[in-house]
Amino acid sequence: MMIEELVLASHNAGKLKELQAMLGAHIKVRSIAEFSSVEPEETGLSFVENAILKARHAARVSGLPALADDSGLAVDALGGAPGIYSARYAGGKDDAANNAKLLDVLKDVPDAERGAQFVCALALVRHADDPLPILCEGLWPGRILHAPRGEQGFGYDPLFWVAERQCSSAELPAAEKNQLSHRARAMALLKQRLGLA
Ligand code: IMP
Repeated sequence: MMIEELVLASHNAGKLKELQAMLGAHIKVRSIAEFSSVEPEETGLSFVENAILKARHAARVSGLPALADDSGLAVDALGGAPGIYSARYAGGKDDAANNAKLLDVLKDVPDAERGAQFVCALALVRHADDPLPILCEGLWPGRILHAPRGEQGFGYDPLFWVAERQCSSAELPAAEKNQLSHRARAMALLKQRLGLA
């Protein structure tokens, strides 16, 4: 399938930057902010459902093919929470408050039980009513630290220990995170599906 231009259905500056860096060389990427400031309610019960509804909304308001990412952090000891509720774990949309809540909830959990993974679902629709969205998922396994480390990235990055680099994901340079992350893994699959890889 040839797509020359698409709209990215994300208002999250951190995610936009990462997705643009991964896709910008291949496809002209427009931001949803050019077309609408309204964010659809994320009523799905899974990352995939939420990615599809965000992509459909973006395609509807832009008239362009649309790519949406729904992502979050799934912590083993919490049965996969905060999961699809990651952005609003502490009630608002504040990364520092979310991180503080996660550290508090896990304060008595030992290292061996602090496994977690970042999850990313990408949905690409050619138009708003596309009956066959392209769906790709990516997982990035890691562990939750006991205190924040690093200044890069966004969201839970300061709490996410990346064993293969022996640092938190907020200590990774952006280019390195963009090679390893859940979004990078999902994007690699998407590029294959689009014949770009
Ligand atoms: P969404 O915008 O509804 O998909 O929410 C995603 C939320 O998951 C973000 O607000 C972050 O809290 C978290 N998240 C997703 N990807 C990452 C990442 O790469 N690093 C850190 N946090 C992330």
